[in-house]
Amino acid sequence: MASILAPDELGPTVCVGEILVEIVATTVGDGFLDAQPLIGPFASGAPAIFVSQCGRFGGRAAMVGAVGDDDFGRVNTDRLKRDGVDVSAISIDPEYPTGSAFVRYRKDGSRDFVYNIAKSAAARFGWTRHVSDLINRSGHLHVMGSALSMPCAREVIDKAVDVIKSRGGTLSVDPNIRKELRLDEDTERRFAKLVAAADLLLPSGEELERAAGVEGEDNAVRRLLELGVKEIVLKRGAAGATYFNGQGERIDIPAFAVEEIDPTGAGDCFGGAYLTCRRLGMPAQDALTYAAAAGARNVTARGPMEGAGTREELDAFISVTERRS
Ligand code: ATP
Ligand code: MG
Repeated sequence: MASILAPDELGPTVCVGEILVEIVATTVGDGFLDAQPLIGPFASGAPAIFVSQCGRFGGRAAMVGAVGDDDFGRVNTDRLKRDGVDVSAISIDPEYPTGSAFVRYRKDGSRDFVYNIAKSAAARFGWTRHVSDLINRSGHLHVMGSALSMPCAREVIDKAVDVIKSRGGTLSVDPNIRKELRLDEDTERRFAKLVAAADLLLPSGEELERAAGVEGEDNAVRRLLELGVKEIVLKRGAAGATYFNGQGERIDIPAFAVEEIDPTGAGDCFGGAYLTCRRLGMPAQDALTYAAAAGARNVTARGPMEGAGTREELDAFISVTERRS
C-alpha cells in the first residue's frame, strides 16, 4: 500500500477555513445564562487544529484564513508558528475581531455553544497574493466540509483545488457535515464534487453515508470508491477507526484506552496525523497507529488542540498506552 498522496517534498499541506479561540466552561451543565468559571482562550477552529497536528508531527503545513488584530488572533498565529506551520497566508483583519466559540458540555455529553464566527475576522479572507503564492507551491489541500458554509472559503478552495491538482498535488476531505444537515443546492453540488475529487476521505460515523448519498456502511464505501476516492478512513470515536481502499483492503484499528477530558479536536488530530504520515511515505497501518494515538492523546487534554502531539510524544504515548479491544 504505497501512499496515494503527493509526497511532502511537493509542498505543504494546506488547510483553508475558520481560525477561532475557544473558551471552555469548567463545569458541566446547561449553557451560559449564569456567571461561571471559564478557561481559555485556546487556539481552535477545525482546519487550524488539523494543520497544527500536521506541523507538530513534522510534515510541511500551512494555513489560509484570517484573525483580528487582537490577542485572540495572536494566540492562534503564535501557536501555529510554534507548531512549524507556515502562517504567511493568514491575514490580519484591521477591523473585525478574531472568531470565538464559547463551549459548555452538558451532562449527556452534548454541547452548548455561543459562536462569533460568521461576523468575525474568521469569515473574512480571500484570494490574496500571499494565498496565491502559497497555493502555487503547495502539495496537498485538506478541506473541511463545514468550511463550504463560508463564501470566502468556497472561493479559495475552488481555486486551490485546481492549482494544487494541476501541479500533481492531492486532496483530502473531512465531510464534517451532520447527516441531517441539508445544504442549499449550490453548496450541495460543491460538496459532492469535492468528495468525488478526493484522494482521501476522512468521515466520522454517519458522515460516511451522508457523503456517499446512500444508506449502509458497505454500500457507502463501495459507492465512494467507485466515484474515484482512493482511500477512506472512517473514524468511530472510542471504537477506533477503519481503513478501506480501492483494492478491497480493509484495516480495523482499535482506539487507545484513555480517560476522555475534552473530545473536541480528536477527529482533526487523527486526520492530521494520518495524512502527514502518508505524505511522509509511511504504510497505511503505521499511519493509522499514529492517527489513533494523536486522536486519543488530544482528548486527554482540555482545549481543542492542547493534546496534539509531536512524533516523539506520540511514540512515547504508543509505548505506554493500552489499546481498547
Ligand atoms: P470531532 O469530534 O473532533 O469532530 P470526529 O467525530 O471527526 O471528531 P472521532 O471518531 O470522534 O472523530 O475521533 C477520531 C479518532 O480519535 C478515533 O477514531 C479514535 O482513534 C480517536 N479517539 C476519539 N475519541 C477517543 C476516546 N475517547 N478514546 C480513545 N480514542 C479516541
Ligand atoms: Mg467525534
